[in-house]
Amino acid sequence: MTRHADVVVVGGGQAGLAAGYHLRRLGLDFVILDAQAEAGGAWRHTWESLHLFSPAAYSSLPGWPMPPQAGEAYPDARHVVGYLTEYERRYGLAVHRPVRVLGVHRDGARLRVETDSGTWRARAVVSATGTWWRPFLPAVPGRSAFRGRQLHTVGYRSPRDFAGLGVPPAGGWGSVFVVGGGNSGAQIAADLAHDTELTWVTQRPPRFLADDIDGRALFDAATARRRALFDAATARRRALDEGRTDTGGVASLGDIVAVPPVREARDAGLLTASPMFVRLDRDGVVRADGTRAPADAVIWCTGFRPALSHLAPLGLRGRRGHIPTTGTRAVDEPRLHLLGYGDWTGPASATLIGVGRPARDAARDIAVLLEDGG
Ligand code: FAD
Repeated sequence: MTRHADVVVVGGGQAGLAAGYHLRRLGLDFVILDAQAEAGGAWRHTWESLHLFSPAAYSSLPGWPMPPQAGEAYPDARHVVGYLTEYERRYGLAVHRPVRVLGVHRDGARLRVETDSGTWRARAVVSATGTWWRPFLPAVPGRSAFRGRQLHTVGYRSPRDFAGLGVPPAGGWGSVFVVGGGNSGAQIAADLAHDTELTWVTQRPPRFLADDIDGRALFDAATARRRALFDAATARRRALDEGRTDTGGVASLGDIVAVPPVREARDAGLLTASPMFVRLDRDGVVRADGTRAPADAVIWCTGFRPALSHLAPLGLRGRRGHIPTTGTRAVDEPRLHLLGYGDWTGPASATLIGVGRPARDAARDIAVLLEDGG
């Protein structure tokens, strides 16, 4: 059976909900299709100790501020899941679950959205599928030879999972290498620092933000940059298209927000980083100087790529796996908007507070398209 909606939103995480909020305000006919059985997007899958790097007031979707979490200056992931669940209910956002979108196709004047439970035809599509579902692992020699445990950020839950890894028969916590100098690497390293024999390795020395800077400052920087970009948008887009580094972003402030557990581990001297190893062998890592170190586990905190495979039938891929966009709109398919994947779909659009504005712009753009008979 084929169903119809003017707009199909693919993904019901924070970005999909923000899109729904603005589409609803404009009175447009839309559905949200989400692959998961329950609300919350990626937040439902993060490690147990994860806390936001901004207070609740700075972590809100459009319309309804995130309520503070009792006893926590920085809410935890469970609080975010609760907020997103309530947000859906509050705004009556009809999210169809679990529905996985397999492919978006051109079909005459419409876009055809094939899912694992039927077909939708739409006049416009918003893709808001996030990145969590496409973990990135670097091509390090010897990775497949290593006999210890390997996991990516997406598979990490708590230090308990590393109990018993070490010296048999009594167990112990084992020697764990955490790879990556971003927030995930620093937070997971801090999480493990007390219990395991931890080695944190990074490609370049870790850059901590000043202790009094949190996600608020990152958002403010992104907003200021947005204003600057208003004038310089064309130049920047050209720079990104040419593969040059965009130095104007929040990254210029540093990489790692010193959230309390990170700060504590760092100040206790438990969070010093070593240079990245050059390869793995069966039993551990091999450093650039040829020395070896045994490892029971390696956790790759090496980032994500946008989850865009459902858009492959449209043939829009540009450089670096991104789809070229103007704002959120795909340059070569004006009926498609991309929301929430990172700065290339709007400054700070991959954050709770930052996704509202690009979601509003996308909804307005779609309203104009539909009005014009698109
Ligand atoms: P997701 O939450 O991943 O939601 C996408 C949804 O789409 C999911 O439900 C998924 O199942 C669904 N989906 C995917 N593919 C399909 C398909 N083909 N068909 C149907 N549905 C599909 N941001 C902050 O603002 N503050 C923070 O403190 C913060 N900390 C972070 C810490 C970590 C470790 C990470 C990884 C991110 C953090 N972020 C933070 C960034 C950001 O808020 C999250 O990544 C957020 O989950 C992105 O939301 P999203 O809606 O774009 O994607």
